[in-house]
Amino acid sequence: MLTANEIRESFKSFFESKGHQIVPSAPMVIKDDPTLMFTNAGMNQFKDIILGNHPAKYKRVADSQKCLRVSGKHNDLEEVGHDTYHHTMFEMLGNWSFGDYFKKEAISWAWEYLVDVLKLDPKDLYATVFEGSPEEGLERDNEAASYWEQFLPKDHILNGNKHDNFWEMGDTGPCGPCSEIHVDSRSEEEKAKVPGSQLVNKDHPQVIEIWNLVFMQFNRKADGSLEGLPAKVIDTGMGFERLVRTLQGKTSNYDTDVFQPILKAIADMAGTTYGNNQQQDIAMRVVADHIRTIAFSITDGQLPSNAKAGYVIRRILRRAVRYGYTFLGQKQAFMYKLLPVLIENMGGAYPELIAQKDLIAKVIKEEEDSFLRTLETGIRLLEKTMADAKAAGKTEISGKDAFTLYDTFGFPLDLTELILRENGMTADIKEFDAEMQQQKQRARNAAAVETGDWITLKEGTTEFVGYDYTEYETGIL
Ligand code: ATP
Ligand code: MG
Ligand code: MG
Ligand code: MG
Repeated sequence: MLTANEIRESFKSFFESKGHQIVPSAPMVIKDDPTLMFTNAGMNQFKDIILGNHPAKYKRVADSQKCLRVSGKHNDLEEVGHDTYHHTMFEMLGNWSFGDYFKKEAISWAWEYLVDVLKLDPKDLYATVFEGSPEEGLERDNEAASYWEQFLPKDHILNGNKHDNFWEMGDTGPCGPCSEIHVDSRSEEEKAKVPGSQLVNKDHPQVIEIWNLVFMQFNRKADGSLEGLPAKVIDTGMGFERLVRTLQGKTSNYDTDVFQPILKAIADMAGTTYGNNQQQDIAMRVVADHIRTIAFSITDGQLPSNAKAGYVIRRILRRAVRYGYTFLGQKQAFMYKLLPVLIENMGGAYPELIAQKDLIAKVIKEEEDSFLRTLETGIRLLEKTMADAKAAGKTEISGKDAFTLYDTFGFPLDLTELILRENGMTADIKEFDAEMQQQKQRARNAAAVETGDWITLKEGTTEFVGYDYTEYETGIL
């Protein structure tokens, strides 16, 4: 059985053998793009080449890209830990052609890699093609279908709609149809009952998408119309953890050697084993997932803070700490102790982790300590608030209470909502927003000047205006 590290290498050497330049992952944190806080797909670092703003140094490249999907267009946070194939941070394997090869090669190399090199069983594979969009004058992607037909029977080639099978960079710009490869890893018995073709793109945990091949062949103009793209682009992305799970014959990404060492370390710490108790398993998956996100963010230059991208990271860390606290008995800082295992596992592929290991540990421990100081009191307050609401026959707590938790106890709103959800309750978000606005106004009146992650008080002002008010300005709460 190939290890995860061997699989990552095999992808790179396969595409190297097809004339691709192997490039390093771009940082997961993006500092110079107002439209994006974190890399959420392999193509991000090539955006300017695709838009034609930059010449391509190499016409064929491939890599493994650190991605994070916790905000904006792609936000998988709520799924993470609850399902077994969406992560916050994951690695996306990808190959690109900038005005060089197109659909034929992209499809046949994907097939060659999965079936000839990695020995996946073609019986388990499905490909989707864009079904067309008559109102836009777009035909079904018969070209892609004709290449798939060389490898797959017709009932394994499925039509997909615009949502799943037409990729657009934005309202304008490069776009085109895509073909996705899905793998059915159910038992033979299950497959006999329901054909995999009926379960593709239906959120079945054993029939999952592994690879998306995007064929950029159009340019969308400002008036919405499409014109042909002079230099066509291939942009592919394959979920590394999903590929590893498939190859290692597992039914969950967390059962692979990508996650097992971390899960074991968490279970040892909690004096339990993974796979015994559903609620604890979710908590362990959340912690195992989030430690990667936090460690890599810090390494790539984004520390937890009170604003924007920093607050996203802080929220993720607090989410993990709360799961550990409530379900795994972790009353002291514990996340930072997982770093040696993570580094042992991933430091080879991402040496930046090794180079910054002391900084990462220090930052995480300080964050944990600071949140743990108020967590217990906050949880008790929330429990009392929920009990009072229930006693009054309500399933909603007031926005004021949610705001107190946020402002005084450092509970991000989505953490409060998560705990409420676990108890079948909600919060009055409108009132929470109103409280937040008032808080901001008070802060403005006190003449605070925001400089990045800090609040500097103007000379002569002595009133403390609260360092938390910028937290809400992340646009994702
Ligand atoms: P899904 O439908 O499963 O959410 P997607 O269509 O949003 O995936 P793409 O944007 O096509 O994903 O990204 C390319 C590949 O990256 C996917 O085929 C999948 O293998 C992987 N991937 C996407 N999101 C995640 C995630 N949150 N965690 C792990 N892998 C992911
Ligand atoms: Mg998705
Ligand atoms: Mg999809
Ligand atoms: Mg997709």
